Amino acid sequence: MMKLIKGAEIFAPQYLGKKDILFGAGKILAIADSIDIPKNWNIDILDATGLKLIPGLIDAHVHIAGAGGEGGPHTRTPEIYLSQLIHGGVTTVIGCLGTDGMTRSVESILMKVKSLRAEGISAWMYTGAYQVPTPTITGDVGRDIALIEEIIGVGEIAISDHRSSVPTLNELIRITEHARVGGMIGGKAGIVNIHMGDAQNPFKPLYDAVANSELKLKQFIPTHCNRNDYIFEDAKEYGKKGYIDITTSSYPYYPEYEIKPAKTLKLLMDAGVPIEHITFTSDACGSLPDFDPVTGELIRLEMGLPAANLRELVDAVTVENLPLEIAVKVLTSNVADILKLKNKGRIEVEKDADMVLLNKDYQVCNVVANGEFLKRDGKLLKKGTYEEALGIC
Ligand SMILES: [Zn+2]
Repeated sequence: MMKLIKGAEIFAPQYLGKKDILFGAGKILAIADSIDIPKNWNIDILDATGLKLIPGLIDAHVHIAGAGGEGGPHTRTPEIYLSQLIHGGVTTVIGCLGTDGMTRSVESILMKVKSLRAEGISAWMYTGAYQVPTPTITGDVGRDIALIEEIIGVGEIAISDHRSSVPTLNELIRITEHARVGGMIGGKAGIVNIHMGDAQNPFKPLYDAVANSELKLKQFIPTHCNRNDYIFEDAKEYGKKGYIDITTSSYPYYPEYEIKPAKTLKLLMDAGVPIEHITFTSDACGSLPDFDPVTGELIRLEMGLPAANLRELVDAVTVENLPLEIAVKVLTSNVADILKLKNKGRIEVEKDADMVLLNKDYQVCNVVANGEFLKRDGKLLKKGTYEEALGIC
């Protein structure tokens, strides 16, 4: 059945004013000041007067099949549940493995991508894990990207971190080159998602890789660039040429040295970083471990959730006074462009009908993914397969 959303203020991300949006078969069919439907048409209409409509959020770094485990077997995090993504306004998710490339597998991420798609949202993934040589399905990152539809890049490969396998210059160049060629052959982004650790001068391996090859900085997307003040200072310079990803769910877990994501957006733009170079991701289901600085022992452990994206997006608007049409780019059109997800990230005719409607307090009232309401008038309509049985929502 076709559906019509009437009278919402549209941020596409650019501001379009109050419009009606007609959608069906998963696609946006028409956007106009007023769309009048013949009386004999059977159509589902939502009156969205007073609501703001933005593209469905793209969360491009989520440990969808669980992660963590740095504090022993009982600290492994669980898989993401569909309702956690819907509550966060996320309609597209990119899954990744993370620290544990030893007991967890790329195959389990692939099956979780398939499961989330079957449950109603859009999903893709990175092959690989923190470690180099990195785990893959076919034996090579390039082959994974070229041959497996769900795989768009590799990551998160860890550098500048005590949990990294410290890839050599040649290893980093080779993995990036294979990802790039796999992307060219498969028609994908072929991008390398880089986990940035706490070491000093953390971008050096990326600058070195580019200086010693034909690769460009835009072949990488370094994440956790707000994890401390010195990486963030370096990110202001790096971001003028390359992409910068800011992690939302870890804040305020380490408030003594982490930079609040909403604030980073303002500071990066003030430093001259183009807005199109900046993305936000939640790192949801990643564990948040805190290690004793003297003994190195794990002293605290929590877990991130996708709702942190929206919290920081709203704070960028209400606290940092950035326009919504600018702030929303870091979770929609920028991500779609960088990851080459051509039907995502914009409210436009023929794009996928992925939409989030916010009330005047910026709370999520409605979520539409691939043309279907997953949340409507504040009520969750769709849950993950076992959520009811587990009492999750
Ligand atoms: Zn990471």
